[in-house]
Amino acid sequence: MIQLIRGVKDILPGEIGLWQKIEKTAISLFESFGFCEIRLPIIEHTELFARSIGQDTDIVEKEMYTFLNKKDEMITLRPEATASIVRAYIQHRLYAIDPVQKFYTIGPMFRRERPQKGRYRQFYQINAEVLGVDSPLTDAQLIFMLVELLKRLSVPDVCVYLNSLGCPVCRPGFKKSLQKFMSNTTAMLCSDCERRKEKNPLRVLDCKVLACREAMKDAPSIIEHLCNECEEHFEAVKNSLNDLNIQFEIDKRLVRGLDYYTRTTFEVHTGSLGAQSAVAGGGRYDRLIESLGGPSQPAIGFAIGFDRLAEIISSDNAGVSCKPDLFIAALGEQARTNALKWSCALSLSGIKTETDFSDKGLKGQMKKADRLAAGHVLIIGDNELSEGSAILRNMMTKEQVSVPIDGIVEKLKSIFV
Ligand code: ATP
Ligand code: MG
Repeated sequence: MIQLIRGVKDILPGEIGLWQKIEKTAISLFESFGFCEIRLPIIEHTELFARSIGQDTDIVEKEMYTFLNKKDEMITLRPEATASIVRAYIQHRLYAIDPVQKFYTIGPMFRRERPQKGRYRQFYQINAEVLGVDSPLTDAQLIFMLVELLKRLSVPDVCVYLNSLGCPVCRPGFKKSLQKFMSNTTAMLCSDCERRKEKNPLRVLDCKVLACREAMKDAPSIIEHLCNECEEHFEAVKNSLNDLNIQFEIDKRLVRGLDYYTRTTFEVHTGSLGAQSAVAGGGRYDRLIESLGGPSQPAIGFAIGFDRLAEIISSDNAGVSCKPDLFIAALGEQARTNALKWSCALSLSGIKTETDFSDKGLKGQMKKADRLAAGHVLIIGDNELSEGSAILRNMMTKEQVSVPIDGIVEKLKSIFV
């Protein structure tokens, strides 16, 4: 038997109602904030991710699924969506229409991580990105929208963590002081961090290894190194969040696992997820568009972990319905021919109609209608055909009424729509 690849999963019909509910809630909320959908390919040139996410990050160093295609080009299954959004913005000159573009996208991402609960090798994200705006009010608005989505989905124990990563003016000073801190500590770092501490010391703050976390507990804070402009920006984000009644905590270690972030960064955690408690993360990437060859435009966005969101709210929301409104139990060839016509017509008008064209008897078909939790069953056999009326049974109340075959589709529509 051929089974699933490690770290990926099927989303079965029993769970799909929940996934669709999350999707619909996000889409309707995002669109009311002026975001438009963009759909992007799953494969891109490896260089796009190497250049944007950064060479020394876990994602680029260890987690990408990369292959050579026939032309000897390096291709990668996307580990995240922001880079592709920026590529599309540049490639299609969307900034020429209006530098301000607001996108959302939903789809699978791929990272070769150690599979565990809440961590998969193919997982899904919901992204929202605002390109072309540097106002801190946008940062607050975006975080507000994210929190509102979690509220609408009844996610419990939501906590927003906030930090600023500064900019090319103030970050070098912070890096130096971080390096100084590390050279003075005797604590052991993991081999990755030992290697990265010279080239990319911020990565050490993001390391998941317990010993590294312990070693960096008292590391200097970037907030103390922010230049005036970054500090003002950060203050304005905090004030605007307060104005919008969004609670948050400052987390000075929050540097995120991608190199492109500048200024505002944030993560949203929930108490109900256990070890993998981050349900969403995001931040500003004011330099990314330019560094990928586009115009100098700032941007900010977030990615929500769809799988984790589904896990949090699965227990009470499962099984949104594929339940038929009507099951047509047809007995005999002529009745089945009618059932085919009627069910097609009813389905077209949006009534969930189910049939069984196998040779089952009435008992077998009623059993099936029960299993599908159909609301009503329409019974039609030779007797009913000759009498010119079918029997409509309400499966809840067990009440039965007779419905004339002549004009039956219209009659049923008037009952169910
Ligand atoms: P983490 O700290 O949990 O590794 P991350 O910082 O790598 O997360 P991002 O790249 O910011 O995650 O992605 C945003 C969200 O996507 C995360 O908050 C998480 O909910 C989800 N996510 C990231 N990696 C995975 C994965 N391998 N499986 C499932 N969900 C994931
Ligand atoms: Mg990660």
